[in-house]
Amino acid sequence: MDHYRHIKQQDHEVYEILIGEEERERTGIELIPSENYVSSAVREAAGSVLTNKYAEGYPGRRYYGGQQYTDAIETVAIERAKKLFNCQYANVQPLGGAAANVAMYFALMEPGDTVLGMDLSHGGHLTHGHPTTSINKVFNFVRYKMKDVDTGEIDYEELREVALREKPKIILAGFSAYSRELDYAKFVEIAKEVGAYTVADVAHIAGLIAAGVLKNPFDYGFDVITTTTHKTLRGPRGGMILVRESEDIAKCINKAVFPGMQGGPHMHIIAAKAVAFGEALEPSFKEYAVQVIKNAKAMEEVFKAHNVRLLCGGTDNHLLLADVYGSLGITGQEAETVLDEVGITLNKNMIAEETRTALDPSGIRFGTPAMTTRGMKEGEAKQLAELMIRTLKAKDDTAEKATLKKEVQSLCEAFPVPESFVS
Ligand SMILES: *Cc1c(COP(=O)(O)O)cnc(C)c1O
Repeated sequence: MDHYRHIKQQDHEVYEILIGEEERERTGIELIPSENYVSSAVREAAGSVLTNKYAEGYPGRRYYGGQQYTDAIETVAIERAKKLFNCQYANVQPLGGAAANVAMYFALMEPGDTVLGMDLSHGGHLTHGHPTTSINKVFNFVRYKMKDVDTGEIDYEELREVALREKPKIILAGFSAYSRELDYAKFVEIAKEVGAYTVADVAHIAGLIAAGVLKNPFDYGFDVITTTTHKTLRGPRGGMILVRESEDIAKCINKAVFPGMQGGPHMHIIAAKAVAFGEALEPSFKEYAVQVIKNAKAMEEVFKAHNVRLLCGGTDNHLLLADVYGSLGITGQEAETVLDEVGITLNKNMIAEETRTALDPSGIRFGTPAMTTRGMKEGEAKQLAELMIRTLKAKDDTAEKATLKKEVQSLCEAFPVPESFVS
């Protein structure tokens, strides 16, 4: 662990914790669909001297001196982001996906205005107006849902009715627990009818869009995209806001991020974003994104063969939601715990039309971005899915769990986390 040599010398307490996490990431299978492994190059940038620098403002318009390198790095990140998503403007300063969404709301609305977004129990995100969030006190959130939870089709008629009735300022497309493509053209058509902005929160699928393997909302006329940079896009933990073509909107977004919401941008993270965007522009990233979806499809096949009910009837992207309580009689919490015991990490999840509680729901959510980064292909994806099913059936079988843990470990040894993804 040469890259921790100074921490090792100076602070053993922190060193031990970091080594522990390195070990955890190396020896377990990560199936949380919002997680990934960054390259060593991205980590170096995130650990760089740029953490020392205050750079409030934007390139060419800063509040402090000494900005020759911060301006250069932020410009590189912006230009690469624009190229990846085929748009005119990018703000790479948001500290995360939640911060990006809050800034976007304030950029496009006045307090009291309405957002029409995906119902949270049907896959929408906390930041789309969950009652416990602060923005829920500022803006009014109304919902659309799936028409059929077993195909995942959105109820576009209901969406249109609610839009006509509630007159939202923003129609928000996007999700954190939904496995199908959206009909972006439909969103734009309805938004035009009611004079709303269209925003896509692609936090989960940004890498798949950047690689061109999922549809880009901008190709259908969306105004704004918000995203994280650390999920399928495989960059450092952070956020970003993209604007298709409107300079007016871009100006509002920039003001809402700084000074509206944040202070000094995290320039070391912006450098790491630039490096990750560079990786995502390489042909090898497209291959990665194609494989992410193939692996999810391979897992789908195995779960279906075992008659486990999948929400939306399967997947078009990187994630799956399984009704393990309905199909195998094991709760989401029990499933999360027993899979963790054998070295497979994922999360319990509420399913649409949930009959249980948030703390112990019926479902689990899992996905393939991280295991695909390790180089696993359809064969390993199927093997993993079989291991998961066996584990879910072995909740109280100590001997079987020990066997399963060994099998997970040998898969990990065969597919170490790589240092670099570009050749
Ligand atoms: C993950 C996610 C976010 C929040 O991102 P953070 O970086 O955790 O703040 C927002 N929206 C969606 C759809 C997400 O999946």
